[in-house]
Amino acid sequence: QLSRRLATVASYVRDGARLADIGSDHAYLPANLLLNKHISFAIAGEVAQGPLDNVQTEINRHRLGDVLVPRLANGLAAVTPEDLIDTVTIAGMGGRLIAQILADGHTDGQRYQRLILQPNIDIDVVRTWLMDNDYQLEDETVVEDDGHFYEVLIAVPGHADYSETELKFGPFNLEKRPEAWQTKWQREYDRVKTIMAKLESANKQDSDAYREYQQQVTEISEALG
Ligand code: SAM
Repeated sequence: QLSRRLATVASYVRDGARLADIGSDHAYLPANLLLNKHISFAIAGEVAQGPLDNVQTEINRHRLGDVLVPRLANGLAAVTPEDLIDTVTIAGMGGRLIAQILADGHTDGQRYQRLILQPNIDIDVVRTWLMDNDYQLEDETVVEDDGHFYEVLIAVPGHADYSETELKFGPFNLEKRPEAWQTKWQREYDRVKTIMAKLESANKQDSDAYREYQQQVTEISEALG
């Protein structure tokens, strides 16, 4: 049974995809997709030996040795052309690390048919990388899991120009307004408002920090509408 977070990532993997899950740790995501017969081949890439051992444990437990291949490698170096990978998932990391992994893995002009990315923070950094590197978003969502809000981005080759607001809040989120997305930003709004109230009671409305927070709440309330 996958967590709500990983189940949401899995739901965007197309039937029959040839998948590379980068930073796979226990390989729960590819193992689940293979066991449910949605896909028939996956690579579980890991940069560290400990998590790669977890991958091997999962392979042994479910007898997935023929279809789930563990690879010790930095990012997309786990993938070779012969693997015919069309779909890449990268989940549970910061957006800067995800963007770095994508940048390092695209030096040869390679484009994957589908990227499914779940950055924990700095989601705008990932959207910006996609926009600057000839991927466009196909969809986005936010999932609440155990009190946390996780963003999932689905990208395909193509070009789109996103505004600063779209890079920050997500073009599809702004359009579809998923409930978890609204709750996430309402919480952020409340958090910043609380800080502003403290600055007000300390008579610090003239500070740069206060003006910065004011800007943030204006942006959030405009996005939430
Ligand atoms: N993807 C799983 C998930 O979402 O539950 C595991 C996430 S875990 C928090 C992050 C994993 O990414 C760690 O096991 C770490 O070793 C791996 N990792 C970090 N940087 C990496 C890189 N450059 N290449 C491959 N794996 C990496």
